[in-house]
Amino acid sequence: MSLRLLCVVAHPDDECFAFGGALALAADRGVEISVICLTDGQAATYRGSATSGKELGEMRRAEFVASCKILGVAHYELLDYQDAQLEFANLSELAGKLVTRIRSFRPQVVLTFGSDGALNTHPDHTVVSAATTAAFHWAGSPKRYLELGELYQPQRLYHLTTSYFLPYRQPPLPAPWTLTLDINSVFDRKLEAFRAHTSQAPLMERTKPVFDEHGHEERYTLIASPVPQPARQSTDMFEGVAE
Ligand SMILES: [Zn+2]
Repeated sequence: MSLRLLCVVAHPDDECFAFGGALALAADRGVEISVICLTDGQAATYRGSATSGKELGEMRRAEFVASCKILGVAHYELLDYQDAQLEFANLSELAGKLVTRIRSFRPQVVLTFGSDGALNTHPDHTVVSAATTAAFHWAGSPKRYLELGELYQPQRLYHLTTSYFLPYRQPPLPAPWTLTLDINSVFDRKLEAFRAHTSQAPLMERTKPVFDEHGHEERYTLIASPVPQPARQSTDMFEGVAE
């Protein structure tokens, strides 16, 4: 069966610190993966040797590509939205860009952040969640964006959630999980992808003890599927997915 997975993130490094386990596990079972990152991360706290936002953006763009390759991501694209400004982006335009990509790549499964903004409650993560969720539903709608390609409805939408918090941050209000991925088999690759983000090395240093303790599982919430069902626990994000 030919499986395709789309993951939509806000910043270079989201693809590994948040979704790296899911992506590497999928790559190991031969799934074709696409990651769309909306910004180049110019507003980051940690700036490496960059002397300007533009320079940092270029560095982080290259780090994103290196990380995707380590994780086994076949297609990666970085859009040109402004880091830390996504809440001011036009939702209809942003969702349209994602609808276009969903209709051309035709993923069965879509991953993105939850509406809480993830462990660091970043507003950009909340916006990515909203826009991707809209695009997931609108890609298959005969009432939406008919000029943007042939209708296509993915079968599963998962939001990232968490079972732990960062000790030095205001905690998010996470959704309950329905999917637990044991990522031990790819944990080292997730860390290696994180290390490819050399400009963010101090962040990795700071968060590594937390990930060492809690990061051997990734938790997700099943948000949408074609079959009405009670919430239940799963360990396979492709369970029941048809070609
Ligand atoms: Zn982020």
